[in-house]
Amino acid sequence: MYIVKQNLVSKENYAIKCPYEMTAEWIVVHNTANDASAQNEVAYMINNKNQVSFHYAIDNQEVVQGLPIDRNAWACGDGANGNGNRKGIQVEICYSKSGGGRFDQAEKNAAHFIANLLRERGWGIEKVKKHQDFSNKYCPHRTLDKGWNGFIQTIKSYLNDVPTISSQGFKVGDQVKVKATATTYATGQTIASFVKGSIYEVIRVNGSQLLLSKIISWVKEGDVEKVNEGSTAITTESSFLVEIICDELNIRQKADFNSKVVGTVKRGEVYTIINEENGLGKLKSGVGYISLNTKYVKRK
Ligand SMILES: [Zn+2]
Repeated sequence: MYIVKQNLVSKENYAIKCPYEMTAEWIVVHNTANDASAQNEVAYMINNKNQVSFHYAIDNQEVVQGLPIDRNAWACGDGANGNGNRKGIQVEICYSKSGGGRFDQAEKNAAHFIANLLRERGWGIEKVKKHQDFSNKYCPHRTLDKGWNGFIQTIKSYLNDVPTISSQGFKVGDQVKVKATATTYATGQTIASFVKGSIYEVIRVNGSQLLLSKIISWVKEGDVEKVNEGSTAITTESSFLVEIICDELNIRQKADFNSKVVGTVKRGEVYTIINEENGLGKLKSGVGYISLNTKYVKRK
């Protein structure tokens, strides 16, 4: 859909571009009102000496970050102590001057990216603001022309599209035990000793990170192990074993070759298939489906 890059302002320019530390409380949406790409928008911003700045510029192909998000930006026109300038993650949507297909795609990418920012922070849709909320400027102008509510609905649709399986196959609802060897959370803080060896439920997943119940902290999936493995999966009469005979084979979310890839299995690994559908076999772990094509797997 898009790639995410950084082209961060140099520390010498912090005094102009982002002088204050910030704990963000919302995301503020803007339109650039020009036709520059995200890369050019950020390059221009970080290199000039104006007190004008933002955190991300997003176009039809990429998200480019120009400022660290733990520092403020000058984007809302509400002054040195304004709630917009001092508490907002500023997102600029590119190509708004001329609009058209590339703007529409940039806006879609922005909605998707903003949904990720919300999810990472555990924030709801009410955290998405527009520049206009903080000062009288009609910004994000084209997004407002098209209808702000439509944009919010697009973000919501991406928010609902929550991945439920981690890179290594942990799912929301899994019971996991934090390993004794774990040292830090995904956020870098030290894991307290009482957490190690304790069992928690996975309440959210994000790539290789898992959000655990009770402690409400993100852990790296390598730092936990599943408990009661297989207790919820049903082994039926028709189940059988397959060995993977290709280097790598995708795990699909559904019994459909076009469904989302949620992981991979590797050569030499053996799996129990509990159900066959459309040429795909359902893994006993419940992680998803793999092709049963004899080019890729061998029945045991
Ligand atoms: Zn603006």
